[in-house]
Amino acid sequence: MNQLLFNFSALAFVLISSASCEQSQVDITQSNNETDVLVRQIETQNHDESDLIPTINGTRVPAAPTATIDPQMQSLAITVTPTEMSVGEISNNDHFLVCSPLAGETIDTLREIISDPYHPPPPGRDERHHGVDFAYYRRGDRMSIEGVAIQAIMPGIVAAVIDNRLPYGNMIIIETSGDYIPNPINELLGLMPGKSVYHLYAHMQSKPGLRVGEWVACGDYLGQVGTTGYNIVEPHLHFETRIGPEGQAFDNMAYYDTRATQAEIDAYLRWRVGGEFQHFDPMHLFEIYLNQLILP
Ligand SMILES: [Zn+2]
Repeated sequence: MNQLLFNFSALAFVLISSASCEQSQVDITQSNNETDVLVRQIETQNHDESDLIPTINGTRVPAAPTATIDPQMQSLAITVTPTEMSVGEISNNDHFLVCSPLAGETIDTLREIISDPYHPPPPGRDERHHGVDFAYYRRGDRMSIEGVAIQAIMPGIVAAVIDNRLPYGNMIIIETSGDYIPNPINELLGLMPGKSVYHLYAHMQSKPGLRVGEWVACGDYLGQVGTTGYNIVEPHLHFETRIGPEGQAFDNMAYYDTRATQAEIDAYLRWRVGGEFQHFDPMHLFEIYLNQLILP
């Protein structure tokens, strides 16, 4: 297990680089000081296959999140070390991980491959960009991102698996309950009790081979970057994060298609503009996570 220490200048870069596009309600700098360092831990253990989540009276009961991930993922884990700030809260989740949504990339390098940033509309509107797009052409070091493995950014429960419908194409949504996220991160995200973070991965090559209700670990394989969905010219991963009520799932979802059923349309509108699921910049989550690795 490797530990990498980062000094404050690295932290400052993260904060400065995030300042231009963050419209968040939370000041993520408030818990930092000049003695802070980032401690990152690259897990190198294998994880088990996903497990089905049991249900009690129809309510899904999440399994305990695993603390191990695939060695290919280069993901980051919070290391619990005595600290003046909120160590008691983090210690309940001492192996909490946030993983890169793309194999071969780390959370640090994601910003280099944003091909279309988060560009939120006013609340309740469907236009503009509810997520962030990742592709390689901006960085230019690889020809195409098509076929690159997509990975779950956090452990959670599959909340939707959509078989190539407009606009998302092949798509999967995963729910991570706030119960599995360290409290300091929940607070910075504005995640209240009873709420979850939902993460959506769209335009995949094929329908994800998972079922609603299955448990996925951080970094679990979800599918490959593709071109399915509405008006996709270049392959990219469209990635959304939303805060919504716990325990929700979608059997279907479609829009921009005259053949879409009313149930599909209703699900789309519920996700997009109904107000229950509030989108936020996925990069905000990554930056909060990185900053929470700070120790005095
Ligand atoms: Zn997009």
